[in-house]
Amino acid sequence: MSHGKLIIISAPSGCGKSTIIGEIIKNPELRLEFSISATTREPRRGEVDGVNYYFLSTEEFEDAIRNDELVEYEEVYSGRYYGTLKSEIARIQAEGKNVILDIDVKGGVNVKQKYGNDALSIFIQPPSIDTLRHRLLSRGTDSIEAINQRVGKAAFELTFADRFDCRVVNDVLREAVDEVERIISDFIKRD
Ligand code: ADP
Ligand code: 5GP
Repeated sequence: MSHGKLIIISAPSGCGKSTIIGEIIKNPELRLEFSISATTREPRRGEVDGVNYYFLSTEEFEDAIRNDELVEYEEVYSGRYYGTLKSEIARIQAEGKNVILDIDVKGGVNVKQKYGNDALSIFIQPPSIDTLRHRLLSRGTDSIEAINQRVGKAAFELTFADRFDCRVVNDVLREAVDEVERIISDFIKRD
């Protein structure tokens, strides 16, 4: 089995990317390690620098852009940058592991374009926009304004689905996790 491949998981916020990644990463056969992104957004309660994200100031992030330290970056929300560090991908590949990325839909399309057959892009879809709003509300991590902003953006982001290698609807969590694991397992067995 080859190592060092990239698995891209993208979807609008609240579709279940983090939840699904949290499950599949436990499967030792997939040899996955999470690519910790850099961001300028504030840490949420319980988030740890260097675990969930590298939390940077805007100045630090702009330095990273200038110094060409990022594979890709997006201003996912106004004034909030998110980006994949080249050093993260290199670190994980040097360990002989496959890299799993939780990135927004535009970043997902860009990374797939860069890495071609070495990357697999998976788009997670919600059963409906209504369900998405309910999940964001029950997650309880974002203000109503932030939730409205995220749901407002979701309809547009869902139009990116057909630019991904595969699509998985996250309705019943266990079924979605099983399907994602099956897709990744097939991909990493390929040369
Ligand atoms: P994302 O990482 O895409 O923003 P999360 O993984 O944080 O999304 O999921 C958003 C919320 O929805 C969380 O509270 C999570 O527990 C919940 N959730 C995820 N998948 C399901 C599912 N299949 N059924 C019900 N709730 C779910
Ligand atoms: P959150 O603020 O909910 O953690 O993430 C918001 C969005 O930013 C999610 O869609 C997430 O996938 C995306 N994101 C996280 N890291 C990156 C990254 O490195 N690059 C890009 N383009 N998007 C990212």
